[in-house]
Amino acid sequence: MRSLSIFGATGSIGESTFDLVMRKGGPEAFRTVALTGGRNIRRLAEMARALKAELAVTAHEDCLPALREALAGTGTEAAGGAQAIAEAADRPADWTMSAIVGAAGLVPGMRALKHGRTLALANKESLVTAGQLLMRTAEENGATILPVDSEHSAVFQALAGEDTACVERVIITASGGPFRDWSLERIRACTVAEAQAHPNWSMGQRISIDSASMFNKALELIETREFFGFEPDRIEAVVHPQSIVHALVGFCDGGLMAHLGPADMRHAIGFALNWPGRGEVPVARIDLAQIASLTFQKPDEERFPALRLARNVMAARGLSGAAFNAAKEIALDHFIAGRIGFLDMAAVVEETLAGVSADPLFGKVPDALEEVLAMDHLARKAAEEAAGLRQQKR
Ligand code: NAD
Ligand code: MG
Repeated sequence: MRSLSIFGATGSIGESTFDLVMRKGGPEAFRTVALTGGRNIRRLAEMARALKAELAVTAHEDCLPALREALAGTGTEAAGGAQAIAEAADRPADWTMSAIVGAAGLVPGMRALKHGRTLALANKESLVTAGQLLMRTAEENGATILPVDSEHSAVFQALAGEDTACVERVIITASGGPFRDWSLERIRACTVAEAQAHPNWSMGQRISIDSASMFNKALELIETREFFGFEPDRIEAVVHPQSIVHALVGFCDGGLMAHLGPADMRHAIGFALNWPGRGEVPVARIDLAQIASLTFQKPDEERFPALRLARNVMAARGLSGAAFNAAKEIALDHFIAGRIGFLDMAAVVEETLAGVSADPLFGKVPDALEEVLAMDHLARKAAEEAAGLRQQKR
């Protein structure tokens, strides 16, 4: 029987993973080693019961008594805190889903790779913050990373059986989010509710707002660079409002292989779960005649400065991605809390990058997780200051 663990089980990706696992037979088909979540103890315990999980972990130690109570009599062990999440990744599992949101996903993902596991990677932040370290750790330990971001799963699928030396370019698509056709002035004044209302995808709050600012696409450009290893000048983003084509790979003979799929993350998750084969996944089938037209447009870097900042990070590499992601996370916290405006987020990230770029770690290829965490820490501090100044100016 295959064994699996889901990190971030109670989130949007975690729920979709749980759904697919249950449809494939749940505890009859899989031995569930560990499930992790945050404060939604009721749901975490429900999932642990349904999958007869060996271990359930909440990220918050103060939630542990509630988790213990919810799991009483089930035989599922309960644990709490960041350390317990890291240790859960030490437990052997054939397949591990990395679906914690933010830089917090890096530690358990790295642990799983050190043990040579197969890691389905939804947590794009780990590639952005520590791409070179992550890929090297996977290689040195014979681990496999399967991309779960829809665009990266699409590139992975388009590249199957191809010679990467013949790849000229990789194009990932962006829906453009809710503000695709909004003026700069209107975007400047938007509310949190407007920013999190994604037109095509149903996702967690943070990634939805990142889609509106195109910080999500910025992260994904860096993710493409780090995961597939193509040079930055071969990687493009194009706006495609229908979210049907997820990525295209262009070859040296002029051919483009496009991947089309429904705007439902269960396709990419299911692909990773069934890999190396394919299996039935219960997503809606695309009706091309009904969609009628697929359109593409150039992204506007003036209204969406995150894309321009991503180019700088792709050029600087090293730990600049850790600084970029940390600054973005802090800026997003401040925007969600109503302390800074929507466009202030990009300004905070740009100011943070400028502030920490003189640090020797900025352009350094990381040798250890400690260096990544040190840059993350430094950038968070700088971003807090930059956000504080922006707030005063409002
Ligand atoms: P979400 O907010 O819905 O869920 C996040 C999960 O992580 C929850 O289980 C939460 O409890 C847990 N978590 C949050 N903070 C934590 C911490 N500090 N320590 C431990 N656990 C913590 O997020 P999501 O939308 O499911 O996204 C998960 C990841 O997948 C993100 O990296 C996101 O960028 C990526 N992703 C998501 C989608 C999508 O459609 N939702 C698509 C592509 C990639
Ligand atoms: Mg994506």
